[in-house]
Amino acid sequence: MHVIAAGELESTVRDIFAAAGCDDEEAARIAKQLVEANLTGHDSHGVGRVPLYIDWLQAGFVVPGQTVEVVTDGGSFAVLDGKFGFGQTVAPQAVALGIERAQQHGTSVVALRNAGHIGRVGSYSEAAVDAGLIAIHFVNVAGSALVAPFGGVDRRFSTAPFSVGIPLPERPVILDFATSLVAEGKVQVASFGGKPLPPDALISEDGRRSGDPRVLYGDYQSTDLRRPSGGTGALRAFGEHKGSGLALMCELLGGALTGGGGAGPGGTEGGGIANGMLSVYLSPSLLGTREEFERIGLEYLDWVLSARPVDPTTPVLLPGEPERQARARRLAEGIPLPVDTWSAILRTIEAVGAGTP
Ligand code: NAD
Repeated sequence: MHVIAAGELESTVRDIFAAAGCDDEEAARIAKQLVEANLTGHDSHGVGRVPLYIDWLQAGFVVPGQTVEVVTDGGSFAVLDGKFGFGQTVAPQAVALGIERAQQHGTSVVALRNAGHIGRVGSYSEAAVDAGLIAIHFVNVAGSALVAPFGGVDRRFSTAPFSVGIPLPERPVILDFATSLVAEGKVQVASFGGKPLPPDALISEDGRRSGDPRVLYGDYQSTDLRRPSGGTGALRAFGEHKGSGLALMCELLGGALTGGGGAGPGGTEGGGIANGMLSVYLSPSLLGTREEFERIGLEYLDWVLSARPVDPTTPVLLPGEPERQARARRLAEGIPLPVDTWSAILRTIEAVGAGTP
């Protein structure tokens, strides 16, 4: 493992995006969100994505410096087009609008389509929670069918993440996960020698369960970019028929209702992949139930946490807590990156002429 301090990693990544054509603000925003994903323990959505993001930028699949276009504005609801801008640029714009409108109306719905990869969806729930709002996000990845539906073998869903943020004082709850058994980035991490996959995370084309990344990527050398188009198998949806049903809803709400497109063969207009995100924001203050919400909610969380653990050394946790713990640990100890991931970043630095870290 190559262990690196968060600040150093962030400036290295910022320099790469700046050298590749992003303005300083955008380069800093992308670097901050990727490093934040590593800090929270989600290496699948961290700096390991840098070579692929640069590849997409150079291929024109993602466009720097974009501002969302307003397709529909109904006051408490809006449809926005991200125009294939960097997800780290256009998704925060959509979230800011959703927050502003929910603070005016008590609730808002924002449908964002054609966003470049938006990274860790929980970061957008956190932004809403910081503003005192509940957020619910249904997300899909247009043009990226990777996941077999329950009972099926062929790829039909994207990894379609889902996130809910709950603003309770001192104890915000952030639920955030891919509806595939593992996020695709975790298959990448495993393929680079990081944490191995559960043995049933993938399904081969002949219906056998597997934990081998080659089922998704086909054969690769350690220095190759991992491309799901190389493999013949699929990820499996989590939670059997229930998780598969939630993935379907993410496709219908994040992909169809936003107008961005589903995970299917049509792909995106731009030829790459794009996130669609349907977000619902609710203000407990404007709903008039904030006091009860906080009192009942906090009491309830205490009760949940009082459940006896199966293993006395592993207490029951609330969603969001593992990320907070990882963040504190990694801020203090540095971020461990598999050697192959770090080498790929070094090659990208050279390729874009960003200077040696
Ligand atoms: P995961 O399986 O690690 O689950 C994370 C969720 O489970 C978090 O809410 C976490 O707090 C909670 N959790 C974990 N351990 C817990 C415990 N012991 N007790 C209680 N709660 C616990 O996440 P994942 O499916 O691997 O997803 C990783 C990231 O990938 C997410 O941030 C997701 O948004 C992101 N993602 C993004 C895209 C995209 O297209 N942008 C696609 C897929 C996934």
